[in-house]
Amino acid sequence: MNIQQEVEHLQCLIIGSGPAGYTAAIYAARADLKPVIYTGIVPGGQLTQTTDVDNFPGYPNGVTGPVMMEDLRAQAERFGTEVRFGYATKVDFAKDGGMHTVEIDNIKTITADTVIIATGATAKWLGLESEEKYNGFGVSACAVCDGFFFKGQDVAIVGAGDTAAEEATYLAKLCNKVHMLIRRDEFRASKAMVHRVMSTSNIEIHYNTEAEEIVGDGQVVTGVRVKNNQTQEEKVLDVTGFFVAIGHTPNTDLFKGILDMDETGYLITKPNVTATNIPGVFACGDVQDNVYRQAVTAAGTGCMAALEAERYLAAKESGE
Ligand code: NDP
Repeated sequence: MNIQQEVEHLQCLIIGSGPAGYTAAIYAARADLKPVIYTGIVPGGQLTQTTDVDNFPGYPNGVTGPVMMEDLRAQAERFGTEVRFGYATKVDFAKDGGMHTVEIDNIKTITADTVIIATGATAKWLGLESEEKYNGFGVSACAVCDGFFFKGQDVAIVGAGDTAAEEATYLAKLCNKVHMLIRRDEFRASKAMVHRVMSTSNIEIHYNTEAEEIVGDGQVVTGVRVKNNQTQEEKVLDVTGFFVAIGHTPNTDLFKGILDMDETGYLITKPNVTATNIPGVFACGDVQDNVYRQAVTAAGTGCMAALEAERYLAAKESGE
């Protein structure tokens, strides 16, 4: 870190600006912790890349992801949160719970009594041009968020892990038919999940099958061209929805070797709380949750992180 520059000290630094980060900011600001939030390169996080959000409580007519994130930002600012565009590039957390140091954009150094990590996760995509073109217009990486829009229709889902199996059965309840595209000749998912898929009559499993192109009319998805990687046979499945469920990558590169994480990189928090292995450092939202991954659960853990930060500071101040 550059010791020549001016160092800014904060009581509470929040890294990441999805529902978890902003909710933590609302609570921390109302507790007078004067939080500063650094947005990361995608201010608003994953939800700014979706269209309609119909499952976040409080919006009876639904809301778009970008508008919801603007609302959350405005609410955090209303109580005095300072929202800054910037990206954490280096962290140096004090193992004994002393002052934590975070470098922003390689140039600015911040010390903080508490740090709330809400850097989220990034959905993995196949990398097809047509997938990007129709993202939000039939292509989705979240069945629970977007499945409802395909009620009674035929859809396809890619993936063979627990997420794909869970999302396929979720979609099967809403949709007429679910085509499950599996690139190998077997699932990766647990036996129980595979059993659930197998016993759902409107899921058709296509083994050794890869999506080659999402077909559309220029506006929305109308099908998917698939190829059997054993026979090289190609065909188009008529679907209006295309779900990608091939995993997520938690945004935790910065914390490798510093914070406890599982083998896939998700931060490990202590049971039922948001505390990490370093006192004064908390983690909330998708960066520590590979199971629910919902805006509302992220917001819930954001609230927890701020309350825990506040209690941590109060205990420290009173010499506990
Ligand atoms: P996983 O990494 O377990 O599975 C990803 C799946 O996507 C694999 O089947 C993989 O295929 C497939 N895949 C990856 N890249 C491509 C590609 N380019 N084209 C086609 N298919 C591809 O991710 P999950 O999100 O399913 O699960 C992550 C973790 O979360 C796991 O540990 C899982 O057990 C856990 N989880 C638990 C749940 C629960 O307990 N209820 C629910 C959801 C997740 P291949 O098998 O060929 O590599």
